[in-house]
Amino acid sequence: MMSVLLLNTTYEPMHVVSLRRAVALVLQEKAQLVEISERTMRSPSLTMPEPSVIRLRGRVAMLRQRSLALSRMAILARDGYTCQYCGLLLPAARLTIDHVLPQSRGGAWAWTNLVAACPVCNAAKANRTPEEAGMALLRQPGKPIGAPAALLHDAQRNPVWRPYLWTT
Ligand SMILES: [Zn+2]
Repeated sequence: MMSVLLLNTTYEPMHVVSLRRAVALVLQEKAQLVEISERTMRSPSLTMPEPSVIRLRGRVAMLRQRSLALSRMAILARDGYTCQYCGLLLPAARLTIDHVLPQSRGGAWAWTNLVAACPVCNAAKANRTPEEAGMALLRQPGKPIGAPAALLHDAQRNPVWRPYLWTT
């Protein structure tokens, strides 16, 4: 089943929806076509280009933007699978999550206190703050707007979507 990238009115990626759902949103005039694929959809009553990216029309409140759930995978995706101390790019399975302010010292499980870290940096930092360990963060962790690209199914292999996806 083909999937379609759904953007909000300000072109932020919201969700991946099925082709069927995307066509319904367009036909109900709740969304507009932004990018189309090379395929054409034909049915007895309808011929239209197959959508690849659609955007919600203004004032459509039926699909509220859900805030992205905080999870290990969401942190790794936000950080581009890159250790936030040494910049090493690793597969998700080999990365760890570091509490910037250590958990043992009251550091929270929160967007602003969690970063992707390679095992070497995580072990080296131990129960210290970045300042104490002399290890600077590549960037301050924050809560992403929209969904990180890597969390959207098919995002990586659909080049048409790339300009619309959340990246840093
Ligand atoms: Zn590292």
